[in-house]
Order: sequence, then C-alpha cells, then structure tokens
Amino acid sequence: MKEYARGFYTSAAWKKVSALYMTSRNYVCERCGGSASICHHKRYITPRNINNPSITLNMDNLECLCQDCHNKEHKLKMSLPVFDENGNMTGVKESADIEEFKKNLKLLEGIKNDRSD
Ligand SMILES: [Zn+2]
Ligand SMILES: [Zn+2]
Repeated sequence: MKEYARGFYTSAAWKKVSALYMTSRNYVCERCGGSASICHHKRYITPRNINNPSITLNMDNLECLCQDCHNKEHKLKMSLPVFDENGNMTGVKESADIEEFKKNLKLLEGIKNDRSD
C-alpha cells in the first residue's frame, strides 16, 4: 500500500463501501469468475484524487478481483525495450517499474540520436 493511501484504505468509509461492493458481487472475480478478495479501483487512486470520493468511493469505479487478476492489472502497464550490452534492442518486456521505463527510454533516445547523422 502506498503511504499516501494508508489513511484512505483504513477509513470507515472505504471499508463500508468496499464491503458493500464485494458483497454485491458475491466475492466473485469479475474477470475470471474465481474467488475474489480485492476491491480494485478502475481509475487508479493517485495522490491527486485520493480526496475525491467520486473516484475513491464511487461503486462505478470499483471492480471485484481475485489476487491473480489484480496482479495482472497492475503489472502489465508498460512495454519496455530490452537491450544487450552493445545497446542493441533485443526484445520487449512488460513492467510496471517507472524508473526502469525511464532508463530504457533514455537508452532508446541515445540510439536514435546516434543514427540520425
Ligand atoms: Zn480473477
Ligand atoms: Zn487495484
């Protein structure tokens, strides 16, 4: 859990709304039909919207997910180019790590500049 979101996730309002939502879905995963344990926000919670109940407490923004589907949802966010030690792009992988993404993006831009002359 992100530090800024701790207050929200421990609030009585969230506990009530998420329990209500999960109950209304019978704790069945909306993606695979498995047994769900996580109340996911379709529009992700960010430091900007954490105090906006129309996002954080809006049932239209919630999804009842199992652990697996929730992991997938949060992992497959970015396609990263993968380089070998000579700076050749050898493939692509998925990552949710923004720092790694920026690093690879810089590498990619360096290569483009090399080839422009
Ligand atoms: Zn699932
Ligand atoms: Zn989530």
